[in-house]
Amino acid sequence: MLTLEELIELFRRNGRKMTPQRRAILALLTQSDAHPTAEQIYRQISATMPDVSRATVYNTLRELVTLGGLSETFEAGEGGLRYDVNAGVHHHLFCTRCHALVDVHHDFAELALPPEKTAGYQIERYQIIFYGLCPACQKSTGEIHVP
Ligand SMILES: [Zn+2]
Ligand SMILES: [Zn+2]
Repeated sequence: MLTLEELIELFRRNGRKMTPQRRAILALLTQSDAHPTAEQIYRQISATMPDVSRATVYNTLRELVTLGGLSETFEAGEGGLRYDVNAGVHHHLFCTRCHALVDVHHDFAELALPPEKTAGYQIERYQIIFYGLCPACQKSTGEIHVP
């Protein structure tokens, strides 16, 4: 997982400008591993920086993914893409009730797709999502635990 300084350095090394808005986005990403959506990031940033635009947030996230400092994780809930500051190989636990997404580090060394099933794709990586109920949601009866 990259630190704020490493993310800023990654941007600079690739000739990107560092603005206060971008810095705030990078800081937010490194403060938690909650795998936020772009919209959640936008809402949090705009609470303290009302002049930040959605386009700035979305473009910054996209550039970070391109530079390899961030990865996108698909989540099957309505949240869509979740951003992950842990760009290394890892897997996830997903709570089907509160949509919490938690990192899992486990080496599934044996997992491989037989060549005849890759549809001609050259496979680069894989990522596994385990679906279930988080501990808080198992305990709560009706209401949704907000992570
Ligand atoms: Zn939950
Ligand atoms: Zn993750």
